[in-house]
Amino acid sequence: MIPRIPFVDLRRQYVAYKGEIDTAIAGVVESGSYVGGDAVSQFEAQLANLCGVRNVVTVANGTDAIALALQSLGIGPGDEVITAPNSFIASAGAINEVGATCRFADVDQNLNINPAAVKRQITGKTKAILAVHLTGRPAAMDILKDIADKHDLFLVEDAAQAIGGSLNGVQVGALGDIGCFSLHPLKNIFVMGDGGFITVNCPHLYKKLNRLKNHGLYDRNNTAMWGRNSRLDAIHCAVGLVKLQHFGEITARFIEIANRYMDGLEGLVDLPRAQPNMVVVYHNFVIQTDRRDELMSWLESKGIETKIHYPTLLHLQPAARTLGYTYGDFPVAENIVNKQLSLPIYPEIQDSEVDDIIFAIRSFFDA
Ligand SMILES: *Cc1c(COP(=O)(O)O)cnc(C)c1O
Repeated sequence: MIPRIPFVDLRRQYVAYKGEIDTAIAGVVESGSYVGGDAVSQFEAQLANLCGVRNVVTVANGTDAIALALQSLGIGPGDEVITAPNSFIASAGAINEVGATCRFADVDQNLNINPAAVKRQITGKTKAILAVHLTGRPAAMDILKDIADKHDLFLVEDAAQAIGGSLNGVQVGALGDIGCFSLHPLKNIFVMGDGGFITVNCPHLYKKLNRLKNHGLYDRNNTAMWGRNSRLDAIHCAVGLVKLQHFGEITARFIEIANRYMDGLEGLVDLPRAQPNMVVVYHNFVIQTDRRDELMSWLESKGIETKIHYPTLLHLQPAARTLGYTYGDFPVAENIVNKQLSLPIYPEIQDSEVDDIIFAIRSFFDA
């Protein structure tokens, strides 16, 4: 059955910006330049400006952004990287991809990694902390930065869900040594397929990343280190430039919907309120309740589609078996995973639809 209110409806955003998107795509098609070119460099410059960093390197997807970031820092076999067990698979996948070992640290009630737990996971092999800004809420970067400095670790941001978020006035992507973003259609700013980018201030890393994503080439025909092909196509950059034109309204709308939910659901469920020192961009709007499964079925019966991000924790994934974790290792994450529910949130959802969802949840708790 097709839900009356779908969890996401990407076509609505195409319809909203159709004229501009069609023109941008046609421009690239007619230019005859499909890999590299003006659209790519303009998009990178605008993203760097938006994130408040010196440089941006566009890449093929957000997973590559993390893997390339780790690779550029010299992280590989024999090294350990600490991340959160409740992230999307790609956070752990990218660590594995460069040959490093994933170590998990439990999260706080706000879904982000707990700095004290991170500290306990540091060993002689630890090279980096991969902090995930889950749901678009900045992780406790100020504390994590102190820990990273003290133990001589790199602090890498998995900001795939958090473009536009900030902590103490600093944009995500500018809070660590290097920042990794996704432009996948399910993220707040998206292109017409897979896409990603890396934020970086260090000129040396910038140069290295540009080579690593382009076969390691330092000129047309020569390489001093093996790389891969992870370029972002011109057509995606052109669409990305259109999205950046509307960045302010898109981001404001996510926050507006979140606030509407919070006003409507106060006192019924645990709500993901922002702290005063942060901007949360609500990539997902995650509520918590002990009656999650019942509520999810109730909403489904009313034609409202909800999701769980993510139902299987990373340390319990079959692929992670060799890491030796068991159920009980991360009690906070393991508790939240049974209580959390993601409600529909995207710029084009109507206020009336949000009100319908609030009404349905209220009636569930009244019944
Ligand atoms: C989406 C996502 C990624 C991966 O990005 P892709 O573009 O899908 O490869 C990594 N980490 C997190 C937290 C994500 O949400």
